[in-house]
Amino acid sequence: MKKFFLLLICITFPFSLFAQERKLLPLSEGKYFSVYGDNLNAILVLEKINSPSLVSVDSIFTKTDNLYDVLAETLDNLYSEVSDILDIHMYSFHSKIHIVRDKFQLNSILNRRYKMDFTKEALYLHEENTIYVSLEDLTLGMLGHEIGHAIVSRYFVVPPPVKVQEVLCGYVEYNLRKKTKEIPH
Ligand SMILES: [Zn+2]
Repeated sequence: MKKFFLLLICITFPFSLFAQERKLLPLSEGKYFSVYGDNLNAILVLEKINSPSLVSVDSIFTKTDNLYDVLAETLDNLYSEVSDILDIHMYSFHSKIHIVRDKFQLNSILNRRYKMDFTKEALYLHEENTIYVSLEDLTLGMLGHEIGHAIVSRYFVVPPPVKVQEVLCGYVEYNLRKKTKEIPH
């Protein structure tokens, strides 16, 4: 019986280690972002932020074995676009994007960690260098807005006042929405 118990520990221990490690591993790793999410379907994310200037149809067809690579490439392109809109080009930048199911899951994560009652769909958390977004509400403009926050808060030694940051990120969102025809020209 003792032998059996020991064997069971030996079998389960590596699995539990693996489970913990898997939680910490990014699903997709690009030049500018590591992407995290539970059971995240790359296609669903790509559909929501699809824009011809960010992802080429060719790359989807040539990399069908790993859509997470296409996602990484798309997010890197989005980062470059947001940098161009703001005209802020950083020497080195790397941030995390955590995609959650919906805003209720986002609220429960922030509530558990920071006792924060957060009812919106997305935010950039400077302390964690992480953008949190709800997949259900995800749009290109919204993600670009949060990438704008990540860039602005890492670029300035003294971060600009909140209102100034919102104006800058609103400008990014407006430009992206105009581009994807969410706003007429
Ligand atoms: Zn904002």
